[in-house]
Amino acid sequence: MVKIARCPECAGVMKYIPDTKSMVCKSCGLSLTRGELDSYWKKIKDQNVSDDDDFQRKKSRRKEWLDWYSKSKSEKERY
Ligand SMILES: [Zn+2]
Repeated sequence: MVKIARCPECAGVMKYIPDTKSMVCKSCGLSLTRGELDSYWKKIKDQNVSDDDDFQRKKSRRKEWLDWYSKSKSEKERY
């Protein structure tokens, strides 16, 4: 079974070059060792997690604002 690695930059297929013991992207030519590739992916994963957190915060902040807005609107209508 051939393990296919994906390029963290362009998601292209990475080919293992035994001579240099590194993975080379067929699309953009990015060359990384296995360890570098792993840490690269880990970094991207961490970034995605923090992005998700930020997104959730923005979403909940927006919801709070909408709640406040609809509430104040209904209060305005009452008076
Ligand atoms: Zn690439």
